[in-house]
Amino acid sequence: MINQRISLKITGIVQGVGFRPFIFNLAISHQLSGWVCNSSEGVFIEAEGEPEEVQSFIAEISAKAPPQSMIESIEVKHLETSGDTEFIIRPSITEPGKFQPVSPDIATCSECLDELFDKNDRRFHYPFINCTNCGPRFTIIEKMPYDRPLTTMRAFKMCPECQQEYDDPGNRRFHAQPNACVACGPKVTLVDPSEKMTSLSSEPIVAAGQLLIDGKIVAIKGLGGYHLACDATSEEAVNKLRQRKRRFGKPLAIMVPDLETARELAFINDAEQNEMLSARRPIVLVHKRDNAAIADSVAPGTNYLGIMLPYTPLNYLLLAEVRRPLVMTSGNITEEPIAMENEEAFHRLGQIADYFLIHDRQIYSRYDDSVVRVIDGHKMVIRRARGFAPEPLSLDFDAEQVLACGPELKNTFCLTRERHAFVSQHIGDLENLETLEHFENTVELYKRLFNVDPKIIAYDLHPEYLSTKYAKSLDIPEKVGVQHHHAHIAGCLEENRLYGPVIGIAYDGSGYGLDGSIWGGEFLIADQKEFTRAGHLQTARMPGGSAAIDKPFRMALSYLYRAYGKNYFRPQGGFWDSISQEEEAIAISQIEKGVNSPLTSSCGRLFDAVSAIIGIRGAVDYEGQAAVELEANVADEHYIPYSFTISTDEHGLYVIMTDMLIKDVAEDIKLGTTRNVIAARFHATVTAFTLAMCKQLRGKYGQNAVALSGGVWQNAILWKQTRDALEKEHFDVIDHITLPPNDGCISFGQAVVANARCRSRTMK
Ligand code: ZN
Ligand code: ZN
Ligand code: FE
Repeated sequence: MINQRISLKITGIVQGVGFRPFIFNLAISHQLSGWVCNSSEGVFIEAEGEPEEVQSFIAEISAKAPPQSMIESIEVKHLETSGDTEFIIRPSITEPGKFQPVSPDIATCSECLDELFDKNDRRFHYPFINCTNCGPRFTIIEKMPYDRPLTTMRAFKMCPECQQEYDDPGNRRFHAQPNACVACGPKVTLVDPSEKMTSLSSEPIVAAGQLLIDGKIVAIKGLGGYHLACDATSEEAVNKLRQRKRRFGKPLAIMVPDLETARELAFINDAEQNEMLSARRPIVLVHKRDNAAIADSVAPGTNYLGIMLPYTPLNYLLLAEVRRPLVMTSGNITEEPIAMENEEAFHRLGQIADYFLIHDRQIYSRYDDSVVRVIDGHKMVIRRARGFAPEPLSLDFDAEQVLACGPELKNTFCLTRERHAFVSQHIGDLENLETLEHFENTVELYKRLFNVDPKIIAYDLHPEYLSTKYAKSLDIPEKVGVQHHHAHIAGCLEENRLYGPVIGIAYDGSGYGLDGSIWGGEFLIADQKEFTRAGHLQTARMPGGSAAIDKPFRMALSYLYRAYGKNYFRPQGGFWDSISQEEEAIAISQIEKGVNSPLTSSCGRLFDAVSAIIGIRGAVDYEGQAAVELEANVADEHYIPYSFTISTDEHGLYVIMTDMLIKDVAEDIKLGTTRNVIAARFHATVTAFTLAMCKQLRGKYGQNAVALSGGVWQNAILWKQTRDALEKEHFDVIDHITLPPNDGCISFGQAVVANARCRSRTMK
């Protein structure tokens, strides 16, 4: 038998995921000789042996690749045989100017988990157990290539046993950079914030578990920052946490010991279970059971619960101790980024947490928990952070080196180069210095890790966004302003490998329009490069500007006044009875005079207004609350829509007129119709006018593809109902795949538009 020799180049996420030991063992099992090595371009392999063995070796690379790897391409070449006799792992090659994808942090694998709870294992109950298939990655990496001295693990010198595992190509911990054990690795300590560094217990996790059972609030250092934890079954503990954190209405995520516990609390279908168990371990939004044994104050006003399973060894040990659901919310004061290091956490969380469970492995990058939901079998990412970022999105074109700075709320930024888009983890709301600093540091980190030197800067047109100001301050001459809703749709197009044009429906809270007004209920005819505004929702005043966002009853007054004039229908009962006459009079005068009362076509505001008109919510504790609670009130049947018309304005744009809809709602209230039915009819109306508008636009522009983007589409009922209605009328409906429909997708869309404009310029 004549031997065969091949070379392979494998690209994708193949570093930090146990790829080389996998290749080594696979080659040995096929009696192949040769070598494998990492380079900044991917993994290179040369392998020699019997042709049949070589062929099955190639086939098994994709079939058996380590669970966390993501192979993008395998390039095979045939070579002359060289007659070498052994298979070896060669040292890494680094080439300047190239880059290598960085793996996200990965939940503890099943083998590590078995060892964690095995009394005879040397890592029994060791809270930092990990291997090449699991553990921290992105959060500890300062520079590439991914080697221990360039991570925050360099502070720990491996003991001889750990070193031996690290050096043994046959071992699961071969080149596992965070490899550690109780003898040589990081340690956990339980402290009292007033006492600072004195350890309270020799069994800190057991003691922390007991404190949680006793109703205390414990700040826990995790992978990408601190969690604030408390007993999720105790109304008192949860309320104490809410008071101290000043977070009143917004649902809190919980962590449960296992899937069985999750099932006792919520209905979980197969797709949701897969998300919950995936190595990304996001928070999954699932339908709460009516009799769920959980404090009502965990998720008031919604029928969803955000549940996650443990994902670090420390999580597993703690949950095994408390054996009950824990609230696990980001360790921050509302609006600030998640606290990361011990001193910072003592300072910022000292007034919230009774105790701190800390450790001495430094976190290099902040990383929130990700949030996903499954609607009708379709996975929707709501917050893209831990487990997802910094995995790049692949592009269908050769990109320029672009930095897109993103929006203000739910900020992410995006860097592009070659065929990759590096969308940052969720940064947060850029409304204060702490978050801005986090944004700037993370931009620098991504530029360094992925070797991007931006030549073009993309930014939102809103002049007051901190991200826009940052973009304008950069000393890079080429800058591209991108309209907010165009960014929404362009990003959606590229994720779906479409260049357009399509009918883009951007339903969100607000975005700066080309005319300087606030848009948010937009129908665009858009491609990746440009767009025409083809239609929108009828505009309404926002009395008091941002006060109208915080107090939906102000939006309600605005819509009612618009529909009826001075003798508007005034809802009664509930919060309506406690609105001061003075405030109402001021709001009405702002609406009448148009003073401090900007016009908006926002769809989010329409949801807010209807929620308030029917008495669900007059003031909100968090963005979108009124709409979330409106959705939660929908009776589960389909109802007849209210009336609406589509007219044409002086610019020839189609406008969905909502005055009749508001009057119909008011009539239903007078008839005594329940709010559940009104909420259902309202959702049906939004679907109906969306469909009607799409038909108009199809007639006028001949486009059949519809792209959905914007935070309003996180509404599961609206999303499903509208998709079904459009598809029934033979529209091709696309929406986001790996990015959220909310403003978390904006930076990617900005980068897509900037690249498209650049391409068309160079083609001319
Ligand atoms: Zn592992
Ligand atoms: Zn060790
Ligand atoms: Fe938006």
